Amino acid sequence: MTSTVPTAVQHADAQQPPITMFGPDFPYAYDDFLAHPAGLGQIPATEHGTEVAVIGGGLSGIVAAYELMKMGLKPVVYEADRIGGRLRTVGFDGCDPSLTAEMGAMRFPPSSTALQHYIDLVDLETRPFPNPLAECTPSTVVDLKGESHYAETVDELPQVYRDVAEAWSKCLEEGADFSDMNRALRERDVPRIREIWARLVEKLDNQTFYGFLCDSEAFKSFRHREIFGQVGFGTGGWDTDFPNSILEILRVVYTEADDHHRGIVGGSQQLPLRLWEREPGKIVHWSYGTSLAALHLNGVPRPAVTRLHRTAGNRITVTDAGGDIRTYPAVVFTAQSWMLLSKIACDDALFPIDHWTAIERTHYMESSKLFVPVDRPFWLDKDPVTGRDLMSMTLTDRMTRGTYLLDDGLDRPAVICLSYTWCDDSLKWLPLSANERMEVMLKSLGEIYPNVDIRGHVIGNPVTVSWENEPYFMGAFKANLPGHYRYQRRLFTHFMQDRLPADKRGVFLAGDDISWTAGWAEGAVQTALNAVWGVMHQLGGTTDPTNPGPGDLFDEIAPVELPED
Ligand SMILES: Cc1cc2nc3c(=O)[nH]c(=O)nc-3n(C[C@H](O)[C@H](O)[C@H](O)COP(=O)(O)OP(=O)(O)OC[C@H]3O[C@@H](n4cnc5c(N)ncnc54)[C@H](O)[C@@H]3O)c2cc1C
Repeated sequence: MTSTVPTAVQHADAQQPPITMFGPDFPYAYDDFLAHPAGLGQIPATEHGTEVAVIGGGLSGIVAAYELMKMGLKPVVYEADRIGGRLRTVGFDGCDPSLTAEMGAMRFPPSSTALQHYIDLVDLETRPFPNPLAECTPSTVVDLKGESHYAETVDELPQVYRDVAEAWSKCLEEGADFSDMNRALRERDVPRIREIWARLVEKLDNQTFYGFLCDSEAFKSFRHREIFGQVGFGTGGWDTDFPNSILEILRVVYTEADDHHRGIVGGSQQLPLRLWEREPGKIVHWSYGTSLAALHLNGVPRPAVTRLHRTAGNRITVTDAGGDIRTYPAVVFTAQSWMLLSKIACDDALFPIDHWTAIERTHYMESSKLFVPVDRPFWLDKDPVTGRDLMSMTLTDRMTRGTYLLDDGLDRPAVICLSYTWCDDSLKWLPLSANERMEVMLKSLGEIYPNVDIRGHVIGNPVTVSWENEPYFMGAFKANLPGHYRYQRRLFTHFMQDRLPADKRGVFLAGDDISWTAGWAEGAVQTALNAVWGVMHQLGGTTDPTNPGPGDLFDEIAPVELPED
């Protein structure tokens, strides 16, 4: 655990099986499904070459398109912005091209095993990510209420931080059967996972993260709740998540999604880009050497979708920004759901009304980041008076919240993520330009490190993003509010279309919004695989009996259903 505050996760015995993002809502082994030599399924030869639209060229869309292509279908990918979506790696104008910044996802837990399948497939390398107090992080400074603490390990922080850690462990244990669930997930004990989770979903769907803390005897001190909110667990302060459903937080802590993070060397966007170019070794119908790029005119996806409507025979007609109109028997939609309400003119008949409600109720977290390139990792120089690192990974209640130091060797230029924020903390940056943001950030950090000339090391312009202001995203990632469980269930289970009226089938929702673990790329992959199964099934295909897909096992592991009345 990279946590500033050790949690019950650390009680886990090293001899136990590894923790993976296996449930708790839908305990299906996507990693085993992907690793199985029988593959993901087959479609009848009469359907080979059939066009299927895939809207969105982010990770979910590219994974879905890649797997559909391998089955012998012809995915037609539409992308409004750039391949990669929220896996967006950018460079700095005029700087060494090896210097990059991760504007979206930047750190991935080893529990993301379906994601890891694709990272390995395209031969990408990962390395430990310098989170607060992570083993690979030389030092961390926690600066709260104007007081700074320097630490290389959690034991060097004042006692109150350990008290807060203890409170979090107790609170999780008492309120959410933490150890039991962690063990059940490791052992892939499906009945046990479902038993614990069914009870908790019913009990906690109406509860916020903050309410959950307040209800716990362990967190009766406001001061402890405040410190916890600002320093938190794993990647840092989670107080911006306090209004969200506690179920969202439990999914993260049970599956250790916020722990042991690794970054992708050279940037995460390479993953969808490499899949786009990849020529699968095993492919049906298409000749050897076919790739997604090869199936698209000039090797690029089609432009933004502007209209989606149903036409005769329950087919879906897609209009794009170039004016092109094409009709498909199946469409996989992976962009953020709000696109269906604003940027794309949609026919009401696309989804049942309950699904539209769920789409409308989707709640996003905002998020801003700003990176600057610097001449070298000067932070590793030692302060002549204290002997400490000149500057450290920094968690603070000041405007910057989280500052990450990213180096690639002592003698090379490096990158600082001056600030990474969520929700209200992100909105505070929204109207400011990149340079204005940098000025405020340098001022905040100057108060923590009065003797360090950060600006003197900057070698290029800052790059920044506020995802809520990106026209094709409108938010960073979904976070369910209390009472949203039913909406989430409707969206996630939408790929099981035999249950829908015949005139509501054919569009398959996938991607971050549809997943149980929004904000984690693993969910984008898992829901892509659900959609692939859904399309295969609709076109009359089947999986190999030795490798049942998510839809084949659905009835046995379906997410808990809460009553509507
Ligand atoms: C700030 C931030 C930090 C994150 N950190 C992490 C992390 O550390 N670890 C982790 O695992 N995950 C992280 N995530 C989540 C991860 O990035 C996502 O889960 C994943 O990238 C989502 O992939 P997707 O394909 O579902 O969606 P997207 O990447 O959003 O892809 C959807 C695509 O649809 C396109 N699109 C939109 N409208 C249209 C249209 N009309 N027509 C055609 N295309 C359209 C968009 O341009 C986009 O490319 C983070 C995300 C953000 C924003």
